[in-house]
Amino acid sequence: MSPILQAENLSVRFPAGREGWFGPKREVQAVSNVDLSLFAGETLALVGESGSGKTTFARALLGLVGHSGGTMRFDGADIAAMNRTARQAMRRTVQMVFQDPFGSLDPRLTVASIIAEPLRIHNIGSAATRRERVRALLVQVGLPPDAASRYPHQFSGGQRQRIAIARALAPAPRIIIADEPLSALDVSIQSQILNLMAELRDRAGLSYLLISHDLAAVHHLADRVAAMYLGRVVEVAPRDALFDTPAHPYTRALLDAVPRIGAGKRVPGGALQGDIPSPLAPPPGCAFHPRCPRASSVCAVEAPVLRVLAGAHQAACHHPLEIAA
Ligand code: ATP
Repeated sequence: MSPILQAENLSVRFPAGREGWFGPKREVQAVSNVDLSLFAGETLALVGESGSGKTTFARALLGLVGHSGGTMRFDGADIAAMNRTARQAMRRTVQMVFQDPFGSLDPRLTVASIIAEPLRIHNIGSAATRRERVRALLVQVGLPPDAASRYPHQFSGGQRQRIAIARALAPAPRIIIADEPLSALDVSIQSQILNLMAELRDRAGLSYLLISHDLAAVHHLADRVAAMYLGRVVEVAPRDALFDTPAHPYTRALLDAVPRIGAGKRVPGGALQGDIPSPLAPPPGCAFHPRCPRASSVCAVEAPVLRVLAGAHQAACHHPLEIAA
């Protein structure tokens, strides 16, 4: 099966001012040489500590930030080489749901206008067919039809996220990028939104790129999981393989912070030690080595590359943990 969306060796850098008044210009390497593919109908989750580059990676895929190296492909075609029509068609196909369902909805617009916005942008349908589509989408996301004429502030956080999901679904996308879609919601509402996302995916054959700190949510929704650390993918594996037998000590530590998920044995005290290093001066070799309980001298000098350990289980580590074959 070929991927719908594919990043090859993708890198994103941000300028970060000078060191002192006259020092050299500095850069944050937010995403470093990332290879990741998203396949039709699958949910790929990105996990990792704050600042590991998850959002920047997703924004680069959408063309919202420029990339400094590598290639992005949509249905096999290089996005950078696309003409305007092809790029617009792609934009319609890849929609985004954000963390803050209030901030992402224009408070001056009715719910109907908000949901119909991508239809207007992409010139889809007449006013009458858009109204019809909005009605159908409200039903699909579990909101009452009279929601159409109301405003965002008249809804709860969970309902606003349903509105944001309806808007994302409006142009019948194939891919939804969901960046922390649950983190602004009450815990009691989170599972409802998670179930809605799963139901919509299964019904419409959507692919999700899910960015989340919430490993329970990732476990519930994802088919595959990629762990990022300081801009790099350090492990990628099918969900159960990653949760049950993580190979990278970093992934292991992330999971150890949430004891109830995954069947793998937990090492007491295995949770992450120390702070994430400055992205302005990442450690040489494996960027995780100063925090890693398994680090040896090679880890301080040689950056490990992502390699296949078994089947679809890949990790970038000189001393991976033992995994199930
Ligand atoms: P979080 O979970 O907190 O959202 P993340 O894993 O999504 O974090 P990013 O937001 O992608 O991480 O940030 C990756 C790195 O890039 C961080 O060091 C961040 O400070 C930096 N960064 C992100 N956006 C910018 C920007 N517009 N300008 C400068 N630096 C940026």
